[in-house]
Amino acid sequence: MDDVGIAGPLASPCRAGQAGAMSSAADLETTLLGPVLPGRDCGDCTACCSVLTVDTPEFKKPPGVACVHVTDGGCAIHAVRPTICRTWFCGWRRVAALPDAARPDRSGLLVSLNFVRAPQNCFEGVSINIRLMPGSDAIGSGMAGRVLDALCGGLVPVWFSDGARKMLMHPDREVAALVLSGDPAPAALRGEVAAWRERYGMFG
Ligand code: SF4
Ligand code: SF4
Repeated sequence: MDDVGIAGPLASPCRAGQAGAMSSAADLETTLLGPVLPGRDCGDCTACCSVLTVDTPEFKKPPGVACVHVTDGGCAIHAVRPTICRTWFCGWRRVAALPDAARPDRSGLLVSLNFVRAPQNCFEGVSINIRLMPGSDAIGSGMAGRVLDALCGGLVPVWFSDGARKMLMHPDREVAALVLSGDPAPAALRGEVAAWRERYGMFG
């Protein structure tokens, strides 16, 4: 799998940009990642409570900083936690193809749908982001490869980030370049390039 397609500054994965976007963001997460799986529970994981940006009128927190309410036992205000915390679920809670061992606190990988308000290209606006959390051995253990294999089959762009940089992993470098340039694709890639262009229509 190609590991360096397009690199760019990392946009913070955000649980919700604004109140009006919350239901549509949740709808997109269900459409693109799938519904929340009944057999998957957060358990002791609180990764999203530290890693992600929360930016709603009701509740805000910066990225990479533990929420003031998170404790070793979970959320200290669980019963009255903000709406966004009740309604947002990471990719591991939604994608059945991700192995149980990929739970973020076990794998050091946090999968989420990412929304970039000012995307630089068609692969950035709405995409799947796999974030390598500090201290994770997911690359060396092979878990990162398993997670990528589980997520890179469809027409949703997949990025891998380490908190400082992000790399486009799917589609691969050659397909991405053809989609962005509009150049004619060779026969072997014609169908795949056409499918991406059709999905992200502004690139002819
Ligand atoms: S990162 Fe996922 S599994 Fe962990 S607490 Fe958040 S939603 Fe639950
Ligand atoms: S309020 Fe609770 S659920 Fe929400 S981010 Fe903070 S610790 Fe996590």
